[in-house]
Amino acid sequence: MERQHARYPFLDDARRAVGEANFDLQSLADDERVRERATERVERALDDGTVGNPSRDARVELLSYPLARVLVSLADEHVLTRKYARAEAATAHERLTDAESRRELKSARTERLTSEDLLAEFDLAGSVHADGDGYRVAVGTYLPLAADMWGDEWRLVNRALANGEVSISNTDLDDLLRKAIERRVAEGLPLDVPDTIAGALVGTVEEIRETLADLDLTRDIDTVVPERFPPCMKALLDSVQKGEHLPHHSRFAITSFLASIGMSTDEIIDLYMVNPGFGEEMTRYQTDHIRGETSPTEYSPPSCATMQSYGDCVNMDDRCETISHPMAYYEKAIDDADEDLTDWRDEEGDAESEKA
Ligand code: SF4
Repeated sequence: MERQHARYPFLDDARRAVGEANFDLQSLADDERVRERATERVERALDDGTVGNPSRDARVELLSYPLARVLVSLADEHVLTRKYARAEAATAHERLTDAESRRELKSARTERLTSEDLLAEFDLAGSVHADGDGYRVAVGTYLPLAADMWGDEWRLVNRALANGEVSISNTDLDDLLRKAIERRVAEGLPLDVPDTIAGALVGTVEEIRETLADLDLTRDIDTVVPERFPPCMKALLDSVQKGEHLPHHSRFAITSFLASIGMSTDEIIDLYMVNPGFGEEMTRYQTDHIRGETSPTEYSPPSCATMQSYGDCVNMDDRCETISHPMAYYEKAIDDADEDLTDWRDEEGDAESEKA
């Protein structure tokens, strides 16, 4: 069993290694260390969009992956499958792109996985070619991978297309590979799990369902009080309203946050519209995409870990120390308010009536 298998358990080689080691599901379900790590993978996917820190024991780390897929299957909720697949892909993507990891892996080349390895893994090597500073991708390969990526730049009309190939940057390739990993992880889920295994994992699955229920509570907020927003979202909203140019990840963060607290596309446009140079059409397109109205996916706002990695986590305060997601911050901030809070949408409505 190689360490690379534990680092990238979705690889065909890793799956083969698990198969050849003849581990049966019952022994995995009964192994406390494997079960704990598998549960952590799933819980952290819900909590902060990661799969947590790897176990130092490569055996536990590798075997926790198939067991995590079993847990996700038993919980059998679409949102959980999506979040789990995304978290596994985000971890692999981080390992692929993290400069620290690249340095570390120079001394452990057998653990290193490159973009080229992943292209071969997903049978994409024949349709993606290096081209100067970036790559060219066959349009038939590009379209399905880019279909549920967020952001205008993924639309084919915004890409240079020549001879049936789309030009992409190195970063774009990393993002498309992350999408390919996400699909590999989600492939075949939910699994058909034998009753005896389901019985052994009933308590663990119940805990995961409880975490999921808490998350759903967070999604039902539907109260807009900008003064109570987490510091990162206040800063991003401020930048939008001043008309400053925001990178895609920052615009995605604030827009998905506003959609998740119950704002409609029109309300988000109204809130942004303080800025006179504001692009309504683009915001409408992006917001509808995030809300899942013009895309196959409804997007959630990024976790604090992701916000930090993009440099969008700013002005942290004491409450930030107690949460791992901007939505959890906002939920607490609303709960902790001593006075009755006025929804921004009601204030706007009152102002309109006064003008009339
Ligand atoms: S810790 Fe989280 S909620 Fe607080 S500012 Fe950073 S990203 Fe926002």
